[in-house]
Amino acid sequence: MNCRMEPIQREQVIAKYLSRTLDADAVEEFEGHFLGCDECFDELRLSERMVAELRRSNLTWRRNGGVAVLQFSHSAELTHSAADLDQLRREVLEQSDTRVIVDLSRVTRIDSAGLGQLMSCYSHLVRNQGSLKVVNVTPEVKKVMDMTGISSLIRSFNDEQEAVKSFN
Ligand SMILES: [Zn+2]
Repeated sequence: MNCRMEPIQREQVIAKYLSRTLDADAVEEFEGHFLGCDECFDELRLSERMVAELRRSNLTWRRNGGVAVLQFSHSAELTHSAADLDQLRREVLEQSDTRVIVDLSRVTRIDSAGLGQLMSCYSHLVRNQGSLKVVNVTPEVKKVMDMTGISSLIRSFNDEQEAVKSFN
């Protein structure tokens, strides 16, 4: 797919997107576009990496049996405009791992934005022959995941080893 955006225009849109100064319609339009546009997708990933390095991440990354495990170091919220949500998105979309476990033990709140992000992380990984599983879900978050039916797509485990094994 050929991108109709000029490089300078692309840079500006992405800078605004990352600094959250695009309006809702423009965000929707851009998100719809960049997933299918190699040029914009690559540029966004590079820019996000730079932004990510500037922010201190609450999200740690490690590997367990060939699976990437993401875990929040301290209390986190997966809610609209929470930095934690942004970090999760970047970690999942930027790394090449497609088999990912997210430890939700320190996530105290989730809202529709957080659920939407989990779903888009899940879809991204499944599209790339991987999957997303969650472990140690807190009762509050579990309730919301159950209510919205997301639990039927994203499998949840109480034990990380079990989650790792489920990928094989
Ligand atoms: Zn493009």
